[in-house]
Amino acid sequence: MHRFFALFLLSAGVNAAELSTCLAKLEPAARAKGVSAAAYARYTPGLVADAAVLEALDAQPEFVTPVWDYLAGLVDGERIADGKRLLREHAATLDAVSKQYRVDKEAVVAVWGVESDFGRVFGKKPLLASLATLSCAGRRQAYFREEFFATLKILQSGDVHEQDLKGSWAGAFGQTQFMPTTYLRLAVDFDKDGRRDLVRSVPDALASTANYLSKGGWRFGEPWGYEVAIASGFDARNTGRKLRKPVSSWQAQGVRRIDGASLGPADRSAALILPAGTKGPAFLVFRNYDVIFSYNAAESYSLAIALLSDQFRGAKGLSTKWPTDDPGLSRAERREVQSLLAARGHDVGEIDGMIGKATRAAIVVEQKKLGLEADGRAGRKLLAALRGHGSG
Ligand code: CA
Repeated sequence: MHRFFALFLLSAGVNAAELSTCLAKLEPAARAKGVSAAAYARYTPGLVADAAVLEALDAQPEFVTPVWDYLAGLVDGERIADGKRLLREHAATLDAVSKQYRVDKEAVVAVWGVESDFGRVFGKKPLLASLATLSCAGRRQAYFREEFFATLKILQSGDVHEQDLKGSWAGAFGQTQFMPTTYLRLAVDFDKDGRRDLVRSVPDALASTANYLSKGGWRFGEPWGYEVAIASGFDARNTGRKLRKPVSSWQAQGVRRIDGASLGPADRSAALILPAGTKGPAFLVFRNYDVIFSYNAAESYSLAIALLSDQFRGAKGLSTKWPTDDPGLSRAERREVQSLLAARGHDVGEIDGMIGKATRAAIVVEQKKLGLEADGRAGRKLLAALRGHGSG
């Protein structure tokens, strides 16, 4: 039904002729933003609308990912080991970036790891086609037109090659997934080759990310926050990222750092977050947590970056368990789930540790056979049952 609706929108809004007409109408606005006539004439003819991006624009999440699943996949052993190795390999660049932008290098590398798995996963959608489509159909055309014009300006500058401008359906691209307008504001040429290339140049991407965090108000050397213990009976209503109080006020309410160490200066502004309620891990967060949040406005995302950056420095994982009897899986374990499903005759596509539609459908079939709740989720109970069945 949803798919039908998206295709209907497309046929109503942008078939090939209509996309071409729409783009011709947009040219004056593009020119006003600094796109040259030559660039417009070179890059816009022949663009083909992409129905899938309109579908993605209106997609309702069919599956709400629990925070422990999200973190188990992003803050896993592989990503921690990769990050530590890359911190060593790029030490000279990262030290120079950190010195110039006054941003902690572990946070920059954590963003890199979460946004593109350190340059391994960029997204495959050509930006021009996606953003042209979203500029001419769908419900956020004004927003996407700015991104479309920015993409043309990037191409016009010659900083990034057209074939490299691929990314998410919404237009985020490169090593740390900048939107085109963000690129124009904040990308820097750190390796001094004359081009700001966030796709092929790791130094440019790392420095641009540090520049983003710096402009967001990063405080060098200050922790993002800490895992804390809260007193039993703590009132969870008085929490949330926007409710700021001095550390001393939280201490007076019984908040303690989980390892017993100091929570930092008593007058430092802090918020208490409880991503899974009072029974799960609790965190007291400071300014840098908000800066991470500004990169991608989601609590689970911010927490993933924060926890990864700590583990790059050698911190161990969380002390408090998530309130579930069926914890999430690392990417290695998700690949194992996919392999076990494939061994049972399911077509799950590439064994990539990403639980997509095909994997979920196969999980539902096996959950029914195994007598588990058929929710399509890859958790520890499913993995144990698949392993047990296979060996027994
Ligand atoms: Ca460069």
